[in-house]
Amino acid sequence: MTAFNILDDLPRIVGDVRGKIALVREDLNVPMTDGRVSADTRLRATVPTLAALSDMGCITLILAHFGRPKGKVDPAMSLAPIAAPLAEVLGRQVTFMAEPSRDALAALPAGSIVIAENSRFYAGEEANDPALAQSWAAWGDFYVNDAFSAAHRAHVTTEGLAHILPAFAGRSREAELRALDAALGSPKHPVAAVVGGAKVSSKIDVLVHLSSRVDHLIIGGGMANTFLAARGVNVGKSLCEHDLLATVETIFAAAEAANCTVHLPYDVMVSREFAPNPPSLRSCNVHEVAADEMILDVAPASVEMLGDVLKNCATLVWNGPMGAFETPPFDAATVTLAKMAAALTREGSLVSVAGGGDTVAALHHAGVAGDFSFVSTAGGAFLEWMEGRELPGVVALTRAKM
Ligand code: ADP
Ligand code: MG
Repeated sequence: MTAFNILDDLPRIVGDVRGKIALVREDLNVPMTDGRVSADTRLRATVPTLAALSDMGCITLILAHFGRPKGKVDPAMSLAPIAAPLAEVLGRQVTFMAEPSRDALAALPAGSIVIAENSRFYAGEEANDPALAQSWAAWGDFYVNDAFSAAHRAHVTTEGLAHILPAFAGRSREAELRALDAALGSPKHPVAAVVGGAKVSSKIDVLVHLSSRVDHLIIGGGMANTFLAARGVNVGKSLCEHDLLATVETIFAAAEAANCTVHLPYDVMVSREFAPNPPSLRSCNVHEVAADEMILDVAPASVEMLGDVLKNCATLVWNGPMGAFETPPFDAATVTLAKMAAALTREGSLVSVAGGGDTVAALHHAGVAGDFSFVSTAGGAFLEWMEGRELPGVVALTRAKM
């Protein structure tokens, strides 16, 4: 029993769905280069839901946005060119309908899959206009939300429709919500969080929220420098937000009050220039960073220690790389720790959930993205979830539970 309706609940709530019209919010906001889809991860994520509905004989109208047309029609951002690549990924026919209507949809054969035009061509979409929601709801018999990546927005297609039609989580959406619940909602303890990336300032709310939820808070990346500076370490020319030392103190205090252990690197990789394989590269204790050096990665002994923390944990949530992983050899700590987490996950001793644009790229670079229990591609929605915020698109589905 989930906190929201899933596709398995369709017969109970909607009855025989053959020939019924499903309005399905998907994430079709795929990267395009020269008019071609350059990464089809998001298209593949739609397959479980679209195939299931089609097999059940539903007529499916996909609602989605593309780019930021800001409420105006912009032919360069039409969803029409997505029909063919989606059809290829699905192995089924997909058509495009610029101006859907209930009659036009109902006339299609059972199992049809149709894409509607970019929802953000309509100003009412992002304003969550109730009148627009009513007119779109009239096209269909029920609503499926399969796009977690848009869950932090209260728009007609992500939130408004759930108030009008019977609402269900799609398969990908359901898997993501279950994984996030296993990681932070009701996780198995001890729980470790790895938070890295460039800056404390972009993740203050994440750090504050996690410090009261997890047992081990592992800080890496550029933001570790600010934590080290707050502990009196001279970080030389490293990226460091000296104006945030007081904020870091409040995070230390919150963690201590919640019995959460904060782990900082004690040895680091430094160099005088930020370039691939720089001649001045060396590892040193955090107390031995020279005034003209930059900390660009965590060094092996600390990574080993952090791996031992993971060995004693049942759950891991990870956002942010441990070093400047785009520039070798400063990918080493991220790659090594990711491989350790992947091995523990494969052995069945760790539930591992990761997300964030650069984090996902780093896990792919390490070759272990497929070994994590769950890797979220949601970006903004994932970070807001890590901040402990209620996501409108999730709340609406929970409220629609029957
Ligand atoms: P995500 O997109 O997964 O949320 P972030 O955007 O917060 O991650 O952080 C990723 C960036 O942090 C990367 O571009 C990486 O190069 C940078 N970074 C990590 N460690 C350091 C460091 N020690 N110094 C400078 N930049 C760093
Ligand atoms: Mg990023």
